[in-house]
Amino acid sequence: MQLKRLRKEAQSGFSQCKSSEQLEALRVGLLGKKGKLSEILKQMGTLEPEERKKVGQEANALKQDIEAWIEESRVRLGQSTKNKILGQSLDITLPGKKPALGAIHPLTQTAYEILDILGDMGFESVRGPEIEHDFYNFEALNIPPEHPAREMQDTFYVAPEVVLRTQTSPVQIRAMMALQEVPLRVACFGKVYRHDQDATHSPMFHQIEVLCIDQDVSFADLKGTLTLLARKLFSEKARVRLRPSFFPFTEPSAEVDMSCFGCDGAGCRLCKNTGWIEILGCGMVHPSVLKVAGIDSEKNSGFAIGMGVERMAMLRYGVSDIRLFFENDIRFLGQF
Ligand SMILES: [Zn+2]
Repeated sequence: MQLKRLRKEAQSGFSQCKSSEQLEALRVGLLGKKGKLSEILKQMGTLEPEERKKVGQEANALKQDIEAWIEESRVRLGQSTKNKILGQSLDITLPGKKPALGAIHPLTQTAYEILDILGDMGFESVRGPEIEHDFYNFEALNIPPEHPAREMQDTFYVAPEVVLRTQTSPVQIRAMMALQEVPLRVACFGKVYRHDQDATHSPMFHQIEVLCIDQDVSFADLKGTLTLLARKLFSEKARVRLRPSFFPFTEPSAEVDMSCFGCDGAGCRLCKNTGWIEILGCGMVHPSVLKVAGIDSEKNSGFAIGMGVERMAMLRYGVSDIRLFFENDIRFLGQF
């Protein structure tokens, strides 16, 4: 009678069991040293032999059944835990993880905008080699071996007569030499190298070179091109002024100032209270440069503009240290 009651009790216990902790408690309560079934087995010694045999068989059968129920319950509980985890990780309504997207570097962005503006004016984008022959980088640009301009540029020599180009101007020579007939309107964006490093200079930086060759190209065309460029890039109200300067490959040469886009010429911190900001250098292509390139300087004339892309980007974005552009700090680059 005792065993029958215990069987019923055990059966309902296992069927209601909901966690592995409960299951363990049930097992100990039945089969442990002080478990209910163990207690019954201990009392068997007091029974008559006939009775003992019968109870023994029944008790053993119950023990086997209990062990089977434990196993069943383990499988069932394991399954339900697994379902729980699977159910959570398979929430298909959750949004996916987005990979971080890169963007175009602020210097490249600035260069592309300038090239776009020039493109609208008819200037075709061209490229030239960064490792350049002395002839294209200096000699053809009216800078003979003893010329002091070579000193100013602190050139990196790769081999005798071979340099890392110090300016994008050699592309002028290459474009003119390839020229079949006028007009020629090209713009070249690229890296240049000089032995120079501080907050506003980097040993590697970027320039954009603009060249226009045609019949009757005048200083007025140059000023018009510069004004349009400044207005598209900085401010609709921008004005430019030209100051006499010197470059070996242009004559006359000029430094270009733009009216300050921060104060419109009134004077502010940005323009150091002058109302003007220096932006680039330019000039009319020197007749002897045209001659080297095989262009008739009696019939044709042209202008050239050279600008530092870093300088343009620093002005546009208010960046005070050129090195920020090359440190690849994502917190800086992410702002553009
Ligand atoms: Zn200003």
